[in-house]
Amino acid sequence: RIVVVGSLNADLTIYTERLPNPGETLQGEGFIVNPGGKSANQAVAAGRLGGDVSLIGAVGRDSNGDMLLASAAAAGVDVSRVRRADNVETGVAVVTVDAHGENSIVISAGANGTVVPADIAAAKDVFDGAAAVCLCLEIALESVEAAARAGNDAGATVLLNLSPFAPVPEGLAEAADVLLVNAHEASQFLGGADIPGPEAEAGEWETVRLKFAEHRLDRAVVTLGAHGSVVLDSLAEDGRRVTRIAPTKVDAVDTTGAGDAFTGALAARLAAGEALAEAAAFASVAAALATTRKGTQAAYPSLVDVQARLA
Ligand code: ADP
Repeated sequence: RIVVVGSLNADLTIYTERLPNPGETLQGEGFIVNPGGKSANQAVAAGRLGGDVSLIGAVGRDSNGDMLLASAAAAGVDVSRVRRADNVETGVAVVTVDAHGENSIVISAGANGTVVPADIAAAKDVFDGAAAVCLCLEIALESVEAAARAGNDAGATVLLNLSPFAPVPEGLAEAADVLLVNAHEASQFLGGADIPGPEAEAGEWETVRLKFAEHRLDRAVVTLGAHGSVVLDSLAEDGRRVTRIAPTKVDAVDTTGAGDAFTGALAARLAAGEALAEAAAFASVAAALATTRKGTQAAYPSLVDVQARLA
């Protein structure tokens, strides 16, 4: 089983030609309300790919909460551990997407801010027998830490998506088995270190791997948007410590949630017993396909979609 702990948000998205400048008002080209939130997205991505997924989090008693539960359930995700919080609205993300598929996002945590370590403790039975635990930073750090420890105790592979970026306590980094970051988050985590560009030699990534290892992070995946991703694995059984995953060529129309599709797909494949580099190659295809349609969860590919692209 895959346990995803964290956020559920309603994404309020407006499509525009370009992103607004400070103080500027732009005319949009359409508005939609979609289910989102990094953890809900990761759960749906894993569920659509055939994973047995449980989601732990909180929503308010409002229509956005109903929408989020329905969307996750439709992907086969067990939502029985998503608490309905009183007197607080469901989390919301106000998203702007430009004509190139680039986005800018503002979030109000709402019910996500009520997730506490006691919610993790109450779900101990869900962690028992979990193969993978998926975490991001859209809920309180102490709850993320509690979930990471629960994952460690259950013998699960703990995936930590360092997004949205925040400095994390050493203990949390240590509890994570696989760190997932985009290039920007990787740089921030490593104190502003330069992250190699798309044409970089493996040796430059070897330097990055050693830096992560200094933080007791033996395994990390750095996603590079349209340039694919890089797997840094100090524990690789085949000794391949740096693996470049080539990008999947697609016409991207909306990259919102691409990183979450990657994380959910990676968790699904790791839970199924695949090695990290193999799982990342699969996740890279799933995430690329997710950018080819508008929206987030509704754009996530099924197992058949990914297999067709791999064939
Ligand atoms: P985030 O959305 O977290 O910032 P990235 O932008 O790095 O993360 O995207 C995550 C993954 O999604 C990439 O590693 C890649 O597999 C896929 N992806 C994102 N954008 C594109 C694109 N334009 N073309 C192909 N794949 C993409």
